Amino acid sequence: MTADKTCIYPGCERPAVPPNPLGGPRASFCDLEGHNALSTHKERERLASATKSDQEEDQ
Ligand SMILES: [Zn+2]
Repeated sequence: MTADKTCIYPGCERPAVPPNPLGGPRASFCDLEGHNALSTHKERERLASATKSDQEEDQ
């Protein structure tokens, strides 16, 4: 069974890298260097703040 997992980086639709045959956790990202947990977190925050500042301005 091949469950095609997609990279979880916002906007990325590339397939996640296949799991290591020797074991280990399944990657949630594709093989692009910039796509990892940290960059995904930052990108999500950036998108969130971009949307926010667009909708509500407190000043
Ligand atoms: Zn990706």
